[in-house]
Amino acid sequence: MLEYLLWNLKRHGVTDIVLSVGHLSDVIVDHFGDGKHFGLSVRYVQEDSPAGTGGALALCAPLLQERFLFLNGDTMFDFNVLDLALAAARSDALGCLALRKVDDVSRYGEVVLDGMTVRRFAEKQAAQPGLISGGVALLKREIVNRIPAPACSLEKDVFTPLAEAGLLAGKAYGGFFIDIGLPETLDDAQISVPAWQRKPALLLDRDGVLNINHGYVCSPDRFEWTRGAVAAVKAANDAGLLVLVLTNQAGISRGYYTELQFQAFMAWINDQLRAEGAHLDGWYHCPHHPTEGLGDLKTDCDCRKPKPGMVRQAIADWQLDPQRCLLLGDKRSDLQAGEACGVSGALFDPGHDDLLEAVHHFVLPRLLATPKHSNSYS
Ligand SMILES: [Mg+2]
Repeated sequence: MLEYLLWNLKRHGVTDIVLSVGHLSDVIVDHFGDGKHFGLSVRYVQEDSPAGTGGALALCAPLLQERFLFLNGDTMFDFNVLDLALAAARSDALGCLALRKVDDVSRYGEVVLDGMTVRRFAEKQAAQPGLISGGVALLKREIVNRIPAPACSLEKDVFTPLAEAGLLAGKAYGGFFIDIGLPETLDDAQISVPAWQRKPALLLDRDGVLNINHGYVCSPDRFEWTRGAVAAVKAANDAGLLVLVLTNQAGISRGYYTELQFQAFMAWINDQLRAEGAHLDGWYHCPHHPTEGLGDLKTDCDCRKPKPGMVRQAIADWQLDPQRCLLLGDKRSDLQAGEACGVSGALFDPGHDDLLEAVHHFVLPRLLATPKHSNSYS
């Protein structure tokens, strides 16, 4: 469960992890170590006697940044975490909870939301639709000053008084949700969580789809989004798709820029997206050219589109189902790379098309047509 939770955080760019551990902590520490093997930095805070969620958070205080994401280890709630970060940044509240819409609040207790403000936590009640806490919150570090005792409940002893004072925000999301707090939901999670992880994906060519192709673009001053690009990536993120970029970068072979410069530039692009609540889950590039270039990079590789190497690699890395992927490219050769792997696609014309419209009218209807994986609590 923790591995799935951390995988989901990592793809959003959240890589600095503090695990609050108690029972069987050695098993968890042995498994994750310092996190490097998982592409993360993982640190641990040991709870020697049960301190409740509030007490556990208090123990973590010295390791927390000014604002941090708080997650329960026994719930999986998949939504656009960066959208919650945006909502929290725009709010004066001390915390912003991710709330899940459910058909039946009776097992959980309802969270009463008024606009963006959490008014109260209702006691367990009749079976009816409403919002529940999804076990994820974006919090300001000063919230630890509101923890009243070394052992207490975050929801009951911290969030409830904050809500009464109007200092707690919330935002509702859909998306996969499961809580493994009951034997039957734990059984359900053994199947539904791995199935959820095989997410539908939007594969994007970069130059001519995400940005205007000015030719060998590798610096912010020559970078220009295509129409609707940032909103399109966010719409795909919000809908629960993976967004992966697949790009031929013969500029590396030709010596126009280096591998490191390319990677730094992609990270810059991702930072621009993240500031708008959007992100790329990953990117793949071909640095080769068959006839031009330097040393080993001059080669007839398997990754330069129309060859399918990058698509194949993306499918392997993310366990993609080709039938639940779509590829947008501005050239036939982009689409050929997808077709070789059973991924269908469409041509995008950066001179005429709007990428957000393409996502709304072409991508989402096709990829979400098969019902999204749901569970008995959705
Ligand atoms: Mg292109």
